[in-house]
Amino acid sequence: MSKTVLVTGAARGIGKEIAKIFAKNKYNVLINYNKSSKMAEITANKLIGQGYNVKIFKADVSNRTEVNNMITYCIKEFGSLDVVVNNAGITNTSMFTEMTTKSWNDIMDINLNGVFNVTQEALKQYMINHKNGAIINISSIDGIVGSSCEVAYSASKSAIIGFTKALAKELALSNITVNAIAPGAISTDMLYDNYEEDDLECVRKEIPMQRFGTAEEIAELVYFLASEKARYITGQVISPNGGSVV
Ligand code: NAP
Repeated sequence: MSKTVLVTGAARGIGKEIAKIFAKNKYNVLINYNKSSKMAEITANKLIGQGYNVKIFKADVSNRTEVNNMITYCIKEFGSLDVVVNNAGITNTSMFTEMTTKSWNDIMDINLNGVFNVTQEALKQYMINHKNGAIINISSIDGIVGSSCEVAYSASKSAIIGFTKALAKELALSNITVNAIAPGAISTDMLYDNYEEDDLECVRKEIPMQRFGTAEEIAELVYFLASEKARYITGQVISPNGGSVV
């Protein structure tokens, strides 16, 4: 029987490439989206057209009821849930003193509480009983070193690292690995929407490799961490960042 992966925020950006690599390796893929319904349909239809088993589901990861329904749907449609990739995330750049409470709460609700909702429900509805699987959380280099004007984002991504390490220990005897990926700057909307062109050029020049990473490079790492080759890796934080932080 094919394995199943759920990728949150997979209509576009890094999540889309993650969905693609699992589909091409014969996983059943549930693409979660929230606002990007058209893109989710396009991404899924392209993969379905290539013969892969892909479905889409709209759910705001910060909404527990929607998340619960999504996990139930996934198990009902595919018969299993082996890999969870917590990829959905948002940021908002501003001076900390000018940040609104709403903006702080939105970032925590999606980036951190979303990971809690999806992971806990996947474990409760399927993974714990089946004593197998992998959970991969997309953190950020900002969660390791902190980023000026992205305090809430950095805090949420640091919390994901703590979450990953603690849960890895708790789930080790259940044969479920839990790892985090903390990418540096990756070429997606998140990067281009939050920096002016000049600032982006400064960011790029500071990277020892002098280039941004690609969503495909992150997807390859996610796929590896979910594979049989990575069964002894758990509680780790891997940061593909072009040498920015070593
Ligand atoms: P992106 O292109 O802006 O995509 C963000 C994704 O998150 C979208 O698919 C979006 O889905 C989804 N999302 C946002 N709010 C959601 C919600 N409430 N419920 C469900 N999905 C939601 O950004 P990206 O670069 O691909 O980012 C993916 C992950 O990588 C994020 O966690 C980000 O923090 C992390 N990351 C990115 C970089 C970078 O430089 N790009 C670096 C380090 C870490 P909808 O459009 O459907 O709402």
